[in-house]
Amino acid sequence: MYLKEIKISGFKSFADKINLSLDNDITCVVGPNGSGKSNIVDAVKWVLGEQSIKSLRGSNNMTDVIFSGSKSRNPLNLASVTLVFDNSDSYLKVPYTEISVTRKVYRSGENEYFINNEKCRLKDISDLFLDSGMGKYAFNIISQGEVSKIISDSSQERRAIFEEAAGVLKYKKRKEEALKKLDKTNENLTRAKDITNELEVQLEPLKEQSDKAKEYLEAKKSLEQVEIALIASDLDKLNIKYKENESKIESIQNDIVEQTSKTATGDVELENKTNELNKINELLVELNNKNIELSKQEEKINGEKNIINERSKYNAEDMKVHENITSLTENKLTLNNKLLSLKTDINILSTKLKGKDSEINEINKKLSNKRVSKNNIESQISTLKYKINDLEFKIKSLNDYIEQGGGISASVKNVLSNPKLRGVHNIISKLIDIDEKYSLALDVALGGAREYVVVDSPEDAKRSINYLKDNNLGRVTFYPLNVIKPRYIDEDTLNVLKREKGFIDILAGLTSFDSKYHDVIYNQLGNVILVDNIDTANEISKKINNRYRIITLSGEVINVGGSITGGTIKKRSLINDKYDLQRMTIEKDNLSVELSSLEDKLIKEIQEEKSIGEEIFNIQREKLVINEEITNKESSYEQIRKDYERVDLELSNLKDLTSGTIEEEYEKITNKYYDVLNKKESLLKQIELVNEQKEKLSSEIEHLQADYRLQNTSIRNLEQELKTQEIENTKIGVKIDNLLNILSESYSLTFEKARANYVLEIDENLARKNVNSLRSEIKRLGDVNTGAIEEYDRVSTRYDFLMNQITDLEKAMETLLNIIDELDDVMKREFIKTFKEIEIEFNNVFKELFSGGSARLRLSDEDNILESGIDIIVTPPGKKVSTISLLSGGEKTLAAISLLFAILNVKGIPFCIFDEVEAALDEANVDKVGAYFKKYTGKTQLIIITHKKKTMEYAKTLYGITMQESGVSKLVSVKLID
Ligand code: ATP
Repeated sequence: MYLKEIKISGFKSFADKINLSLDNDITCVVGPNGSGKSNIVDAVKWVLGEQSIKSLRGSNNMTDVIFSGSKSRNPLNLASVTLVFDNSDSYLKVPYTEISVTRKVYRSGENEYFINNEKCRLKDISDLFLDSGMGKYAFNIISQGEVSKIISDSSQERRAIFEEAAGVLKYKKRKEEALKKLDKTNENLTRAKDITNELEVQLEPLKEQSDKAKEYLEAKKSLEQVEIALIASDLDKLNIKYKENESKIESIQNDIVEQTSKTATGDVELENKTNELNKINELLVELNNKNIELSKQEEKINGEKNIINERSKYNAEDMKVHENITSLTENKLTLNNKLLSLKTDINILSTKLKGKDSEINEINKKLSNKRVSKNNIESQISTLKYKINDLEFKIKSLNDYIEQGGGISASVKNVLSNPKLRGVHNIISKLIDIDEKYSLALDVALGGAREYVVVDSPEDAKRSINYLKDNNLGRVTFYPLNVIKPRYIDEDTLNVLKREKGFIDILAGLTSFDSKYHDVIYNQLGNVILVDNIDTANEISKKINNRYRIITLSGEVINVGGSITGGTIKKRSLINDKYDLQRMTIEKDNLSVELSSLEDKLIKEIQEEKSIGEEIFNIQREKLVINEEITNKESSYEQIRKDYERVDLELSNLKDLTSGTIEEEYEKITNKYYDVLNKKESLLKQIELVNEQKEKLSSEIEHLQADYRLQNTSIRNLEQELKTQEIENTKIGVKIDNLLNILSESYSLTFEKARANYVLEIDENLARKNVNSLRSEIKRLGDVNTGAIEEYDRVSTRYDFLMNQITDLEKAMETLLNIIDELDDVMKREFIKTFKEIEIEFNNVFKELFSGGSARLRLSDEDNILESGIDIIVTPPGKKVSTISLLSGGEKTLAAISLLFAILNVKGIPFCIFDEVEAALDEANVDKVGAYFKKYTGKTQLIIITHKKKTMEYAKTLYGITMQESGVSKLVSVKLID
């Protein structure tokens, strides 16, 4: 490898582009002072990565290296230098035979680097030349006046040259990187430890909170299970009670209406009767007045009659006849009176009899009404009884049917009922619960799979199949839990469905089941879509390209692919049977309540009918008495009438014997007298009759009033009962509302869902006890932070993660320390090896150049090889000096050149640039050095800037630098061979 070309443009005094072509030999660069020779050295150092402007003889910043202008030339804005290396011997370990390295700086201060015209970083250039002997710290470029610095520098500064020579810089760099990593790792470790310390403080209380929250959630879950089941059971009972009470209330209300209407009728009757009584009282007053009037007339007529009688005693010719006539007349009138009175009695009695008949008619009407209403109730009762019997029969049949396997095929029943077959669960349809309104759809969706038997594993299925085969019991499909996979609707389709009106849900989503059956149930129902009707089903099926089965609430099916199944469903369903049984039981209970209320009513009706019958019987008995009285009166009448006729005959015979006027007068007055008596008697009878009526009316009024009071009391009692029932039902209603509220607010559940999914499996009292104890446990736990569970998980996961990281970091640190130790070992080894080789070479070269004497190298701190400085001890021939400072300038230069050559001898370096290294030497020594230069021909390319002619003699090529145009360096090449 050698430096083939140096291209400079705009760098320092090289305003114009120059191209220094070099070969792998000695090239001398010559020229007058200040022509710009050293600027070439600076240019090479700059490209190789020199960053110190001082070392490049600038003042402030890197832009100082840009041509700053001269009298005749303007300053430039860009300095660019390119070094082209021949790498055909692959000295640099890159796959190029030629490598160009370029550095540019702009006036703005921006630097650019290129390797083979590819933009790169400064670091890439440093790395390229690392340990090549050509890097930034290398000794192959010795600037003007710096050669003696090699030996007069501090022993520490010198060490850098030895390190470069020993090629340990790459290890040093690696060590630096490892140390940086170590620092970083340590920093991370400290940080991780700090965080874990903090987390440890949080962890313990968080664990406590998390445990408490878990305890709370567990208690809450248990409470939920029992409480919901208990509420569902309570609600069931309360609902029945509520309905019973409602029918009672309705029946009481009917009774009250009936009683009230009866009271109203009674009111009208009472008023009518009272009016009638008033009229009778008025009539009585009138009749009594008449009676007084008649009594007065009687008295007066009686007086007149006595006078006529007295007078007749004096006028009578025949006293005897007269007396007889008087007596007969009296007798006849008395009999006539009796006849009249009997006639009146008979008339009155006949009227009474008619009255009784119409009374009976009235009551009969009442009786037939009562019978109609009773018959009506009886027919209602018999209809209800028929219905209840029918329901009882149906319930019993359905119950028997369900208990005996409810339509399950014989083969399945055989499997389910064989206790020897292990791992058998049940048929799918019995493992699912669903709201009744979706049961038809579920039934259709399951189809034949209703009877698939769920088992634990394929082995269990195999055992069952063998059993069926061995006993010739038919075929059964088995679903092993650990094999069957769930099926779902894909996410995109689901999003389409959610936007559709009429889409209800995925059927599996509406079911409830034990979680262990999830996969089996989702296998059957996880990809079945439930919609409201066939129109929606058609629309959705089109939208999702008929990819999933769709079922409507009424059981129509659109199959995958688009075929449609529908029509009537006759087959009984295992799923619907359960709901039918529940519905029929509730219906039967309600009918029984209605029946008992009607039976109560019927008893009442029968009692009322009986009392009406008794009433009729009493009236008929009264009628018989009246009839008997009439017959008696009529026979008395006949008897008296005969007497009357006889007396009348006798009297007319006697009257024929007399013809006196006094008798006529007497007869007249007597007639008048009896007439008044008759009237009076008839009046008295009328009064008696009216009094009787009055009495009867008064007693009826009393009865009506008593009835009225009775009915009022009964209404009040009914109203009281109604109130009690209403209060009780209000209370039940409140209880139901409360329980429904708890379900909805605490558990977001409807009653139907609660009833379908939570069954009370323990005794009710025990359940209540459990609810109370779980409640007090939850209360005892007090404020609970459920977020703590997640927080604890998060913190403990982070803690574990960090602890793992700490372990990893500690391991990494250990590895890094091992690497550093290894690097130290390699560096020590390489350094000492090179150091020793150079020491030997140094002594040899020194002796050759000085023609005697000795030179030595020494480690200033042998115990610390990695950092030790390097001391130089030289003794020129014939002298006893060992201190460098005491050497002459020329001796210092020659000693320095000796060391330089020694290093070059040990570490073969592709090229060296020496800027007037031999300036301080005398001619003889220049010659010695020049001769030594020659030794490197073919091994190391030498570019020497010199003013010494002796040196130039050893050069193969000479380049001249001039500064003809003021301020701008120019290149003049002189090939010595030519
Ligand atoms: P000597 O033989 O005396 O050592 P030399 O040939 O090595 O001289 P250099 O030191 O390379 O000369 O060049 C110095 C010259 O370069 C000076 O004239 C200086 O003005 C010029 N120079 C340095 N930097 C710049 C710059 N940025 N722009 C223009 N000219 C510059």
